[in-house]
Amino acid sequence: MIFLKTDEEISFLREANQLVGRTLGEVAKWVQPGVTTKRLDEIAEEFIRDNGGVPGFKGYEGFPGTLCIEVNDEVVHGFPSDYVLKDGDIVGCDCGAVVNGFNGDSCYTFPVGNVSEEVLKLLRTTKESLYEGIAQAKAGNRVGHISFAVQDYCERRRYGVVRELTGHGLGRGLHEDPEVPNYGKRGTGPLLHAGMVICIEPMINMGSKNVTIDSNGWTVRTRDHKWSAHYEHAVAIREEGNEILSTFDYVKEVLGDRFI
Ligand code: MG
Ligand code: MG
Repeated sequence: MIFLKTDEEISFLREANQLVGRTLGEVAKWVQPGVTTKRLDEIAEEFIRDNGGVPGFKGYEGFPGTLCIEVNDEVVHGFPSDYVLKDGDIVGCDCGAVVNGFNGDSCYTFPVGNVSEEVLKLLRTTKESLYEGIAQAKAGNRVGHISFAVQDYCERRRYGVVRELTGHGLGRGLHEDPEVPNYGKRGTGPLLHAGMVICIEPMINMGSKNVTIDSNGWTVRTRDHKWSAHYEHAVAIREEGNEILSTFDYVKEVLGDRFI
């Protein structure tokens, strides 16, 4: 069942998603070789709590962290750990925060130190595909318009588009209807209405689309161990167009010239 949000509910969702954006900006200050992923998680949790929120992922179906941390060939749902980031890695930080009972959910994949041009291209393409999807998020279109836009953009550039995980509706629930796949056909799937809030989150692989799940039951990684990138925004469908409720502006402020 899809819940349409009132303007007031959208303002609560904006607040939660802006806090997530500010948290990603805080995390961005610490992403560098030598830092453990657990440290990034602690920074995110402290920042969210200091700013009136509650981590949205911690304890969700038993997930142990504030961030889902996705290093290199990890696609989603990595656990914060003692892994020490090294020069040339990429690290996705998927962050959730609850404010006033509403969820924020956004993800940014950071380059660590100096990353190869090939990997930068993966990051850039994945992020661009997110905005291709967002451009289709408008009343009168269907979810498949978004799905097709993401898939087409990435597959034309010969990247693998993960099938097993999707974007989703967002509200009081972290994962509401509808599912928002990163692959599909234009004109299929649920119709988009003003008042819907959805997370669009391309998960794009340098190699094939196939993934496996680690023995922890959570962490999804590429089957061929080629690297994977993930960006996510929360988007409200409006009468005219849409509004991106989350933000990468704080990340951009920190990364400066290194923001891609
Ligand atoms: Mg997320
Ligand atoms: Mg999400």
